Amino acid sequence: MANSGWNEENFARVDFYTDEFDRAVYQKGARVIWEKSMLCSCIDPQSGQADFTCPSCKGKAFIYFDPKEIRALVYGVDNRNDNQPVGLLDVGTSLLTTRSSDLVSFRDRLTFVDYRTAYSQVLTYSDEDEVEGVLLKYQADAIISVKNLSYEIPSDKYKISPDDSQRIIFEPGTLMDGDRFSILIRTRPVYIVIDMPHELRGTFVKFGNAVEEWNILPRQLMIKREDLMPLKRGELM
Ligand SMILES: [Zn+2]
Repeated sequence: MANSGWNEENFARVDFYTDEFDRAVYQKGARVIWEKSMLCSCIDPQSGQADFTCPSCKGKAFIYFDPKEIRALVYGVDNRNDNQPVGLLDVGTSLLTTRSSDLVSFRDRLTFVDYRTAYSQVLTYSDEDEVEGVLLKYQADAIISVKNLSYEIPSDKYKISPDDSQRIIFEPGTLMDGDRFSILIRTRPVYIVIDMPHELRGTFVKFGNAVEEWNILPRQLMIKREDLMPLKRGELM
């Protein structure tokens, strides 16, 4: 009995997607720390706004929890024409694919442990920070530069805290209480899932089964750098 087109479709195409592609993601994908997101209970029931003094979400309205290392391919799933043209993507946005078993979802946070990026922020020094250090937004691999306006603070005047790589400790007397400074660090890129173009994509598989089984296909996610996310709808950081 010759292979019918029906069989070819089910064996070659569908099972490639669910099994081979999951394997390809695992073997060729980058390591990613995946954290689930959920809304924070500080959100005001009337206004719908998060509390900017909230110790849990720090006013971002979302909390992240349950970190797990997964793998992800940082490009389109395949060459089919349902890929977004890269040129139309927003600044700081990319596409990636995760295994179908990893149910990464909207607003979840992904930290790329094998990559490094530069991140800059402006901070205020307080005398209370002398011992513990000033808290940064992200863990620092290295400090590239610390400046007060254009004055470069010498690198022997500060260090990453040996207890917490998210803090910078200054030599006493380097900065005064209330001084503003800017810092450029090297850190692991952190992204937020902003879209799942094919969330409801799945397929029936009949391979080896008498009854068809519904399989979820590998997930393609659109992600955006967390530091480039709008704070509120329409507001830029
Ligand atoms: Zn909160």
